[in-house]
Amino acid sequence: MRMSQLYAPTLREVPAEAEIASHQLMLRAGLIHKVAGGIYSYMPVGWRSMKKIINIIREEMDKKGGQEMCMPIVQPAELWQESGRWSVYGKELMRMQDRHGRDFLLAPTHEEVITSHLKNDVRSYRQLPLLPYQIQGKFRDERRPRFGVIRSREFLMKDLYSFDRDEAGLDISYHKMHDAYTRVFSRCGLNFRPVVADSGAIGGEGSHEFMALSEVGESEIIFCHGCDYAATNEIASVAPQPTGLGEDMLPIENVETPNCTSVDDVARLLGVTNDRMVKTLCYIAIYEQEEKFVVALLRGDRQMNEIKLLNHLGCLELRFATDDEVRAHQMAPGYCGPVGLAEDVYIVADNEVPLMVNHECGAGKKDHHLLHVNYQRGDYRISETADLMLVEKGAICPVCGKTLDSARGIEVGQIFKLHTKYSAKLGARYVDENGAEHDMVMGCYGIGVGRTMAAVIEQHHDEFGIIWPITVAPYEVIVVPVNDKDAWLVEQAENLYQELLCHKVEAVIDDRQERPGVKFNDADLLGFPIRVVMGKKLRDNGLAEIKLRESGRVIEVPLAELAATVMELRAAMFAGLDPDK
Ligand code: ATP
Ligand code: MG
Repeated sequence: MRMSQLYAPTLREVPAEAEIASHQLMLRAGLIHKVAGGIYSYMPVGWRSMKKIINIIREEMDKKGGQEMCMPIVQPAELWQESGRWSVYGKELMRMQDRHGRDFLLAPTHEEVITSHLKNDVRSYRQLPLLPYQIQGKFRDERRPRFGVIRSREFLMKDLYSFDRDEAGLDISYHKMHDAYTRVFSRCGLNFRPVVADSGAIGGEGSHEFMALSEVGESEIIFCHGCDYAATNEIASVAPQPTGLGEDMLPIENVETPNCTSVDDVARLLGVTNDRMVKTLCYIAIYEQEEKFVVALLRGDRQMNEIKLLNHLGCLELRFATDDEVRAHQMAPGYCGPVGLAEDVYIVADNEVPLMVNHECGAGKKDHHLLHVNYQRGDYRISETADLMLVEKGAICPVCGKTLDSARGIEVGQIFKLHTKYSAKLGARYVDENGAEHDMVMGCYGIGVGRTMAAVIEQHHDEFGIIWPITVAPYEVIVVPVNDKDAWLVEQAENLYQELLCHKVEAVIDDRQERPGVKFNDADLLGFPIRVVMGKKLRDNGLAEIKLRESGRVIEVPLAELAATVMELRAAMFAGLDPDK
């Protein structure tokens, strides 16, 4: 490609809404154009990089027996009513009607469609397992699209679905995909970590998220330096550490705590540490047909993990109860406690709470707290216990006992075991060797292609621009003749460019009539891994200069060895990102 012809609309000024480096650089380098909030075009240079990521994904999926296909993005509501997701998906689901007034949607994911195909096409155990996949558009009307293509509304996803005879088969498919994802993200040059994850709205049990480590990531990862334990903070758990163990149970005391509504204030007034308190949080759990008042109990120094609570309750949404709703259950806001609550109030406690001895908590009455409360003595009732705690840095690793650390990550992929969640609802069954019918056992596996590209840039850039790993670089080499008035120099550059093209090296020649500074700046911004500069030194001493974008290393090479050296460097870069090497 000739730089003079390249459709790469680079920008000097970056719009203020681009908060993070990858978003700014994708706009500055002209990789993407915004069409509407959360809706982008990939421009030619950006799309080249996307195609490289797509090819890596495709190769790795095919190696595991994946079979590529393509499903429609516009889907009829009926399928989603059958699976039950039409009513529960919420506002992220873009719904619409056709000219006959029939309901349709823009697919945020494709479990329904693929399961309906398998339901019609597969009868016998002999046809399983199957691993169909596609690399195709999704639409999610995200509440807050941001960070460019990291959280957009329309985006490209690779989604593979596994269909097996039984759980053992699912385990094999899941393991294959875990391995394939590890290879995909390694080949893309990402520093990533697979972590145990919440299975979210898709449901089922068993999931990993692949996190590209980055300060700007929206997810928090809890991990251990001592062992392999790594989980999202949505799901991380630790062993209960109840306080007061071994103490004699003391009689309950009712004490005045005027104007003390926070755990900190009360603990200070009572002269105890926060971990001796139990905090009482009142929520409204919203289900499809009803709302439920929920009292949740947690050790005073812990934070509530609302995702765990939501999953435990199985509700669609959670919100804090209003003061009036709290009063309606005979409690004073700010002084809530479990003692004396009516029999019909649902009380869920974190696993630590029932084990605590002599804890403090709200008395239910304004300006009052209770001392030395004990669940084990029957001071109050708990409907259910659950793991509700948000695990933070510094907690004890549940596997090896060392201290846990935290990091931020961008979720670039996720794999789920769906079991029979969709096959049962949609009737995707097969007949086994004995003639018995079973639901197919499913898994689903997604990679955000654009988000992966943005994560690569987030991890690989400097103040001058993008530093592409060669495997996903739009172009591999740029040849820069410094003086476009020097016909001999231009000819040498042209020769090298042609030779590289002959060897299938993806090269660009900067044939523009621009100052060297402009050419170098653009080369840095666009992030070519290898830059060849042909200037005065070539004329005077016969040496061209190769500069590596990542290390900044400069190598001077005689003209005769130039093409061979470029190809060697290129091969070494590819080898460095090959998970088999
Ligand atoms: P998130 O938690 O970030 O909203 P998700 O868990 O809902 O994502 P999945 O349903 O697991 O997403 O989708 C698979 C992959 O698709 C994600 O790992 C991510 O890489 C990508 N993806 C999901 N939502 C978006 C989005 N709004 N924009 C770009 N990529 C996305
Ligand atoms: Mg996910």
